Amino acid sequence: MNVNVGFIGLGIMGKPMALNLIRGGYPLRVYGRRVESMEPLTAAGAQACASPAEVARNADLIFIMVSDTQDVEQVILGPEGVISGARPGCTVVDMSTISPAATRSLAAQLTARGVEMLDAPVSGGETEAVNGALSIMVGGKPEVFTLVKPLFERLGKNIVYIGGNGTGQLAKACNQILVTLSIEGVAEAFTFARKNGVDPGRVREALLGGFAGNKSLEVQGKRMLDHDFRPGFKVRLHQKDLRIIMETAHQMGLALPGSALVAQNMNALMGSGEGDLDSSALVNVIERLNETYITAPLHKG
Ligand code: NAP
Repeated sequence: MNVNVGFIGLGIMGKPMALNLIRGGYPLRVYGRRVESMEPLTAAGAQACASPAEVARNADLIFIMVSDTQDVEQVILGPEGVISGARPGCTVVDMSTISPAATRSLAAQLTARGVEMLDAPVSGGETEAVNGALSIMVGGKPEVFTLVKPLFERLGKNIVYIGGNGTGQLAKACNQILVTLSIEGVAEAFTFARKNGVDPGRVREALLGGFAGNKSLEVQGKRMLDHDFRPGFKVRLHQKDLRIIMETAHQMGLALPGSALVAQNMNALMGSGEGDLDSSALVNVIERLNETYITAPLHKG
């Protein structure tokens, strides 16, 4: 328990995760790029810092939850970054979803300064973050994982050590391949139902109890039917995850035809200004493609 903890990145996921660490008895030093993003944390007892370096200066463990690869690089290596404040012997825990290759490079640069790193991306959304019920997949040294595990237990329920640095990110990419194809499947099934004059809501209800029942049908399916695209998990972050997957596949000479197709649909959403909607807005692309709108009243045909 006697450990100094820092937390950087206080968005949809980072804020509730940081709050759960405070509730778990870990006094936090926090950094949010927008000063106002730190207010809910300071109200809960955290100490606000002016930079990632200031967070790192007195910390044994530094959690990071920002958007993309270059953001984590900036937070760690940039001016006033973690690396300029971190003491040898401390550990950086990056819980953002970023490139596995960049993660290995960051870990090597930190190790050269005597600083350990774990990649620990998460699956589950804002609700799971609030409830401390995330799934956490971890890459790095096993002994470092053992040290950090009590804190992971404040954030998640399913905590799995995968292997060396970068393997947590590889597991997360696998998660996103499955989630991506699953959301596409839900959008296509609902559009198919509606075009055939069948109520997609009733179809969802029937399918939830059968072999096709899954979390995407339950959560994203409900959002599609309600046309409620408040994020959640933003389209721009989903597009970013698909970019990471496709870049990694490209480097390996690996064909992922399904993921490539959905990546195009996410690009279309970005192009039509829907980047800040929840990624269940994928159904908008399938609806427009087919001029079939799943929420249109059935009797209008
Ligand atoms: P978000 O709400 O957009 O929050 C991202 C936070 O990172 C923001 O507070 C942002 O600061 C900060 N940030 C971004 N770039 C930064 C930089 N260069 N320097 C300092 N701060 C920076 O995103 P989120 O939904 O919390 O997602 C965070 C990560 O978790 C992403 O990698 C995402 O893929 C992953 N994830 C998300 C979900 C989900 O359901 N939302 C689920 C699993 C995993 P500002 O406020 O100043 O913009």
